[in-house]
Amino acid sequence: MTEFETAQKRAEELRGLLNYHSRLYYEQDAPEIEDYEYDRLLRELEGLEAAYPMLATADSPTQRIGGRAGEQFAPVTHTVVMESLQDGFSEEEVRDFDRRVRETAPDAQYVVEPKIDGLSVSLEYENGLFVRGSTRGDGQVGEDITQNLRTIHTIPLRIREPLPFLEVRGEVYMPRESFLKLTEQQELREEKPFKNPRNAAAGSLRQKDPRVTASRGLSIFVFNIQQIEGKELSGHQESLDYLKSLGFTTIPFYSRYDTVEAALGEIRRIGEIRGTLPFDIDGAVVKVDRFTQREALGRTSKFPKWALAYKYPPEEKQTKLLDIEINVGRTGVLTPTAVLEPVLLAGSTVSRATLHNEDMIREKDIRLGDTVIVRKAGDIIPEVLSVVSHRPGSRPYEMPKTCPSCGAPVHREEGEAALRCNNAECPAQLMRVLIHFCSRDAMDIEGLGPAVVELLVGQGLVRTPADLYRLRVEEVEPLERMGRKSAENLVAAIVRSKQNDVARLIFALGIRHIGQKAAKLLALRFGTMEALAAASMEEMESIDGFGAVMAESAASFFALPQTTDLLEQLRACGVNMRSLERPQGDLLAGKTFVLTGTLPTLTRAQASSLIEKNGGKVASSVSKKTSFVLAGEEAGSKLTKANSLGIPVLTEAQLLKMLNE
Ligand code: NAD
Repeated sequence: MTEFETAQKRAEELRGLLNYHSRLYYEQDAPEIEDYEYDRLLRELEGLEAAYPMLATADSPTQRIGGRAGEQFAPVTHTVVMESLQDGFSEEEVRDFDRRVRETAPDAQYVVEPKIDGLSVSLEYENGLFVRGSTRGDGQVGEDITQNLRTIHTIPLRIREPLPFLEVRGEVYMPRESFLKLTEQQELREEKPFKNPRNAAAGSLRQKDPRVTASRGLSIFVFNIQQIEGKELSGHQESLDYLKSLGFTTIPFYSRYDTVEAALGEIRRIGEIRGTLPFDIDGAVVKVDRFTQREALGRTSKFPKWALAYKYPPEEKQTKLLDIEINVGRTGVLTPTAVLEPVLLAGSTVSRATLHNEDMIREKDIRLGDTVIVRKAGDIIPEVLSVVSHRPGSRPYEMPKTCPSCGAPVHREEGEAALRCNNAECPAQLMRVLIHFCSRDAMDIEGLGPAVVELLVGQGLVRTPADLYRLRVEEVEPLERMGRKSAENLVAAIVRSKQNDVARLIFALGIRHIGQKAAKLLALRFGTMEALAAASMEEMESIDGFGAVMAESAASFFALPQTTDLLEQLRACGVNMRSLERPQGDLLAGKTFVLTGTLPTLTRAQASSLIEKNGGKVASSVSKKTSFVLAGEEAGSKLTKANSLGIPVLTEAQLLKMLNE
């Protein structure tokens, strides 16, 4: 292969990789690699394209800003392009930038700001009123997310002067505290947690339901005027001061400097305090202050030539691994956590780090007493990156063979990375089961957080969720920091939760792979806990949005004798077992339907739920017990069988008519 061919091959490879990661990052908010790894790949491609300009295709990731706008929201065309920024990874690159600037603007002054790691948005105001907000998208076309942005308290809905028109640009971000709260809840629900606050902010902003956005604690820093009518401004610092006076929350610090060395001093200072800020930053931005000089410097197709984003390297530190602690989760999963000699890392003291699972420990050959490198992934969650050296005489770490909480043997199921304790009575699991049961998205029992659950379990008052419903005020009152009033409130909250929709109860049971959404689907489809418990795996699998893994997990959960027993007890305590959202009719009571072929207007899921809402049952195969076969186009062997058994066949129209009568 010639040199050119090698470069061509590598460029193609890089383009594929970058497009893949870019899609994960911008469209799914779920990156697989760290930003600086992505940046390294991008730089490599830029290098190749600079050496062989023929390789620079118009659709190359080096030519593109951000990601495509999604289809979920209405498109917004940006009159003023929302540009990206050129990057610099060393102080030398900042000095080079300064030299380029001074060729055109010898007396340039710089404003240095933190670079907030969030999501860029545009906000438009007409006569002082907030009228539209959108994402950056690819810089030219973004998504209309006005309703979601309205839920962010730091976005003024009316500004202090009724300017005819104003468009500002800002960065929506999730404060660290909100992020930690969110990921904690996600972990409790065994959902995949967001990787870092940026992805969490992006995911929260692009929600269909603004109420979800509102619950995520987002905020904004405004950092630029895109368009303005009715006011003359000549520089950046002045315009930020003006935005502040209008009621915007501007970028928290934006000082001005005469020389690049002074600007570098500020970059270093921001780097030092970076970990102590209540939000994530991934760099500092150096911007030429005067607008006339910005005009003279101009832009490339992707970024302005008057600004540079200096990116801080992720902070890494060396420390000692003192111990490995094993925690037992709600579903019995054993998670190893490294206990570290405390080190100061990106602004906070780190003394614990996740080790994920057995495989990771083995791959990195992490042993007790090792000297290790730790890093904050996404600058927040500490992880052990690698081993520097083993302690002399150390041996590979072995995960325990028995549960550290109850002593039962642990298992690793095929295809799974996790070790699991399957003992239903395991106290560690019981604690987690109860905490989940009471949590906000499950039975929502106010006042029953982890601390109280621990007390109740510790005192032997509660052994199963059903025990909660048997608690008496006199039993709760003597608990630590409780008292009469709190005890009464707690018992009242427990009693109130009996009226919850059955969907909450299904979710609260903590069935593996059954999240909040799946629980709702099950409740709507089966209507009652009784019907759900009697349903077959096939019936569950036929629900739109249900996969085999979910159906299998739910079906085997309901087949357990402990489940039957628990449900029996909950029922006896008066806990509601019906869907409140599903209107019940009995027009089709006692009738069993089998569906085949494609119906003209209804999906299979809709037809099934219609039949069930009216008291009928849907089965998966035709037998003598089948009352009707509902057949659409391209009906298969089920129709043949129905005909041979003499079972009446209905069209969709006939079914609908039957229901209308
Ligand atoms: P960028 O993040 O490098 O810089 C531009 C952005 O900075 C602007 O959109 C702006 O909103 C924001 N910003 C924050 N504070 C600012 C301030 N004070 N002044 C001006 N702008 C400010 O560029 P980008 O095009 O948004 O995205 C590239 C980033 O995305 C890179 O960091 C890259 O690593 C990351 N990325 C990562 C992956 C991955 O898989 N990990 C994939 C794609 C992109």
